[in-house]
Amino acid sequence: MTGLALKGAISDHELEVLAEGGIVIENNLILATGNFDELKSEYPEADIQLLKGNHVCLPGFVDAHTHICFGGSRAKDYAMRNAGKSYLEIAHAGGGIWDTVTETRKASIEELTKNTIKRANRHLNNGTTTLEVKSGYGLTIDEELKMLRAIKEANEKALPELIATCLAAHMLPKDFKGSEKEYLKMISEELFPVLKEENLTHRIDAFIEQSAFSADDIQAYFTKASELDFDITVHADQFSTNGSKVAVDHKAISADHLEASTDTEIELLANSDTIAVALPGASIGLGYNFTPARKLLDAGAALAIASDHNPGSAPMGDLLTQASILGTFEKLTNAEVLAGITFRAAAALKLEDRGKLEAGLLADLAVFHSDNYQDILYNQGNLKPCMIWKNGELVFDRHKAP
Ligand SMILES: [Zn+2]
Repeated sequence: MTGLALKGAISDHELEVLAEGGIVIENNLILATGNFDELKSEYPEADIQLLKGNHVCLPGFVDAHTHICFGGSRAKDYAMRNAGKSYLEIAHAGGGIWDTVTETRKASIEELTKNTIKRANRHLNNGTTTLEVKSGYGLTIDEELKMLRAIKEANEKALPELIATCLAAHMLPKDFKGSEKEYLKMISEELFPVLKEENLTHRIDAFIEQSAFSADDIQAYFTKASELDFDITVHADQFSTNGSKVAVDHKAISADHLEASTDTEIELLANSDTIAVALPGASIGLGYNFTPARKLLDAGAALAIASDHNPGSAPMGDLLTQASILGTFEKLTNAEVLAGITFRAAAALKLEDRGKLEAGLLADLAVFHSDNYQDILYNQGNLKPCMIWKNGELVFDRHKAP
């Protein structure tokens, strides 16, 4: 990934593949990369771990958008949707986001923590060493705090690093007596200060959609978040446009979804510093069109790819499978897909210390048993990494796994 641009299309010729390579790790960081024999003579004191057979080492993956802290299951919604039931019919049968809110409120903080760790560690086994995790199934001050405290606690014990985001603006809770604006005002006045005090997150997200919040609803909320120095990210343009304009206007770090984006929104994003995040897992889960990733890249946008792992629309939660599939439908080069789940995804979380195999960056590595890097996307997620390093430590070794 070294030397690749943050924005725009990338051809596979631009990838710098190091044959007979080696990586020197000191503490949690990459000290040097290069030819194995040269590194060996340069660092004679190094404790050498030589991998037998051919392997490909990539930067550990970054999944910049997940909702893996939740209670319950939405298997029934999935079956109903595939049987042709409408959004409203599913909601009337007790399904939809509100079902997950009800189940998450019922769960104890210990249960939420345990389940988040379990799901995060499963992502690690698939090569993901950094995961963003959102709240947004609590939708009261106390319940949002419960979720964010569970995510903070899970981060202490999970193998990947978890980056928390407050998504209290996921939908207007059914039991709130008041308007969208009144709900958001309450959240910004009563929840934002506690997020700072307890250092629970520095990121604020909102779902801008007809079924959630309008661009007008969210103005004051995002202005307040910016004043308090929170980073902003947006669920934008999933079913209707508007969200990406709000994202760009508020200098959001990322605008995620974009399945409904037209040429206007694509231009807007391409001419901004906001990272466009495609969520193919949601398209696969809903049987819906993919984010126009090819058009975004050709227009010059920075494109990251994330799993959106959540109980409703994206239950699979396998980033590599989903990114590979997005690549086949959208005609993305290997370099573009791999950039989208490494350094471009890190940029969507404003993390400059990972996503490339480069001296000075975190030693987060995903190693695959393979002759050729092209095998990895070719196997569409079925070729799993055999070894994972997180912060310079070997945390997963499939050869030794039970
Ligand atoms: Zn989402």
